[in-house]
Amino acid sequence: MAELRKCIGSARFGIEPHDAPVEDFPSQPSQKDGLGRMCKTQWNQYTAGLAREAKTRKAAEGDVAAEAAATESGTPAPTAKRPGAGRTRKKADVAQEPATG
Ligand SMILES: [Zn+2]
Repeated sequence: MAELRKCIGSARFGIEPHDAPVEDFPSQPSQKDGLGRMCKTQWNQYTAGLAREAKTRKAAEGDVAAEAAATESGTPAPTAKRPGAGRTRKKADVAQEPATG
């Protein structure tokens, strides 16, 4: 029985989160448990979406001259940065009993 792991998907590219077998996840040493947050299928979609966005942005900037040496290899570098990933939540749970009597 294969162990399942949560694939977080990406709302940005319309990828629904789901559970997938652990073996479907690419290894990612930068992660705490050494596995990616998305399964390979979704990861490919995600990186492809990022690449497309970058291309669109470059085209919008009108900087087409730097596209001369653009080569596409099959291995996208996992360089997804997520700013503000830390959790800061304070517990404001102060219950005071009113003195009755
Ligand atoms: Zn997935």
